Amino acid sequence: MPTAPPVRLPARAHPAPASASVSGWTLHSAGGCEGVTGSAHLLTCDDARVLVDAGLFQGPDEEAANRAPWPFEPRSIDAVVLTHGHLDHVGRLPRLWADGFRGPVFATAATLAVAEVVLRDAAGIQAEDRARARRRARRAGIAGDAARPPYAQNDLEAVLARGRAVPFHRRFTVCRGVHGTLGRAGHVLGAAWLALDGPGGRVLLSGDLGDADGPLHPPPEPPPPTDALLIETTYADARHRSWTETARAFGEVVGRTLGRGGNVLIPTFALERTQAVLNTLQVLEARREIPAARVVLDAPMGERMTALYRRYPQTLRSAIAHRLARGDDPFRPARLEVARGGSAARELRDARGVVIVAGAGMLTGGRMLQHLVFHLGDPRNALVFVGYQVEGTLGREIVDGARQVRVLGEPVAIAAEVASVHGFSAHADADALDGWWRASGARVVVPVHGETGAREALAGRVLAAGGAVRHARLGEPLTL
Ligand SMILES: [Zn+2]
Repeated sequence: MPTAPPVRLPARAHPAPASASVSGWTLHSAGGCEGVTGSAHLLTCDDARVLVDAGLFQGPDEEAANRAPWPFEPRSIDAVVLTHGHLDHVGRLPRLWADGFRGPVFATAATLAVAEVVLRDAAGIQAEDRARARRRARRAGIAGDAARPPYAQNDLEAVLARGRAVPFHRRFTVCRGVHGTLGRAGHVLGAAWLALDGPGGRVLLSGDLGDADGPLHPPPEPPPPTDALLIETTYADARHRSWTETARAFGEVVGRTLGRGGNVLIPTFALERTQAVLNTLQVLEARREIPAARVVLDAPMGERMTALYRRYPQTLRSAIAHRLARGDDPFRPARLEVARGGSAARELRDARGVVIVAGAGMLTGGRMLQHLVFHLGDPRNALVFVGYQVEGTLGREIVDGARQVRVLGEPVAIAAEVASVHGFSAHADADALDGWWRASGARVVVPVHGETGAREALAGRVLAAGGAVRHARLGEPLTL
């Protein structure tokens, strides 16, 4: 079967029969098919077995899912390809190694660098959790040890050593009989979509697709023609507002808080959101829409990621890449201070007119918690959310209107302004996803990486256009 038909017919002209393969590939998902986290898709074609991403399930009740047996034998996998470095796409990689995988791990150089920072941070958290569990067991007089960790430090080092950097657009050999090509997906530093060509045809995996309008990354590159397509659907039932509106709303709350002598607290994730916030502050200062205030970045991992953004400009918007090439730092507001050590919260306790950027994005941990204790009680201050707050997190509790919360074990009254600025999204919205799958000419579309409503929204659009949809279920084989 040709991998790229010379004439692309409308999908309506040849709907795929419900069970026949149009691509020669079979999918076994080990996560990221019926929800947004834990992405891990095994694609098999003849004897070739390629795992795309090996992500962690994230959320309050996902511990068991992350320890569940793989629905395939890790030893039998020929190679892993990573679409990008988010924890929900790379977090189970060390466990895959511990369970017997011994192949190469292909990704862009930037993604390998991001994944290393993300995996080392996660391993540190795993070690802390384990030490805490051991102390708790000892206090309770329980004999024995806490549950065995899913992997050891040497598994992490071994799998990191198997990283193989692949440039965008260059066809590479994934394993015998299978070739891969990566294209720019926007989203976060280094992110790629992946086309896999096997003896029977092509399967295209979108990875996570970026927002065409975001400040840092250009829109995702158009897809190549494909037989089958796995496409993310995080926001397939939503429409984003324009970046101009988002930046204006962000500037308004920052400006009004600084104007009344307050501090602005911005919880951010280390990858992408920290850099987007720093860049937006700088741009708004340059346009004199906000004063050039003291900006304190109290986020060690955010700072490490920002260094990677400076080192790998290839996936950034050309205006930002050009500034970096000139030695002009697009992530540096005029009065930026990078906090060293863990004492910034105490030092800023009585400060006025400061913008504090710190993790974690949903207040599930990180240094922002220490700042909250000192600043939430003052009505001049503002806590500004620039990302979605998941149910069950402290961030969500505050967004939902709590006036009193527990932070680091202490009761804290909230008198500060609480604002949510929507539109800082790293994901494509409904119309962008619709345009992307149509451009691929895919004969079979598998909506993945989305809640049920979002996956159904995209499936509805595909069916209305006469295309064929198949749904992946965790661990069940699906012919593509
Ligand atoms: Zn992602």
